[in-house]
Amino acid sequence: MAIEKVLIANNTSIIQDEVLAHRLGLIPIEVDPRLFEYMSENDVPNEKNTIVFKLHARCTKGSDRLRVLSSELKWLPNGSELILGTEHSASSSSAKPKTYTSFSCSQDTRPEFSNEPIAPKDADIIVAKLGPGQEIELEAHAVKGMGKTHAKWSPVATAWYRMLPEVVLLRDIEDDEAEALVKKCPVKVFDIEDIGKGKKRATVARPRVCTLCRECIREEGWDKNVALRRVNDHFIFTIESTGALPPEVLFTEAVKILEEKCERVITELS
Ligand code: SF4
Repeated sequence: MAIEKVLIANNTSIIQDEVLAHRLGLIPIEVDPRLFEYMSENDVPNEKNTIVFKLHARCTKGSDRLRVLSSELKWLPNGSELILGTEHSASSSSAKPKTYTSFSCSQDTRPEFSNEPIAPKDADIIVAKLGPGQEIELEAHAVKGMGKTHAKWSPVATAWYRMLPEVVLLRDIEDDEAEALVKKCPVKVFDIEDIGKGKKRATVARPRVCTLCRECIREEGWDKNVALRRVNDHFIFTIESTGALPPEVLFTEAVKILEEKCERVITELS
């Protein structure tokens, strides 16, 4: 979920409306998007496809500059509070005025949100800075989307992989040499084991943390003691989440999507 529409009621700050809207769009929201539906062009914003936040910040005259943080985005579980422009003049006084959303029930009645109100993942992201007398008042509507449409919908911050390193000792490295080898490695891949009679031997204790920096074979002759390789059919994936979902969930969801794509290709080919 990411902020897609921003309705600006007032903005007297120096940051332009479109820049402000863009900044808001990039704020990660802590909510499981699987609980919401995609909104197509003809859909009306409702409690199943839209999350509404409001932000109202004012820097009073005579005070210091004010930093407007993401924590100022307050969730509106009942939907938009802004009255549609045409409604001001058209609606009768008794009818409930139409707003920019059509929520049939409050989102906080859903069990998933009753104890966990929806909010930005991080409360300290700077949205804008206000000078004395400046004010921002807006409503932000977040919807479900895909990372291929815009990066703001990608729940993954960074993802990369590397091959599993393989560190092999080509001969027994003992005593002072073993101590020297342990000291060479900045990430403590090697350890020392006691082999009795006061003798020590180097072992490869943590090959997985090896960064293949080659420090252990840089000195002349050490390439005959240690071999550094990569296991070419073992990949270590690292996934950083923006915060909406934990990385392990992102991985399993990504695998499901990959499965679906593979099935589609197989169906089309068969
Ligand atoms: S390549 Fe670098 S990280 Fe890997 S074992 Fe050698 S010194 Fe340690």
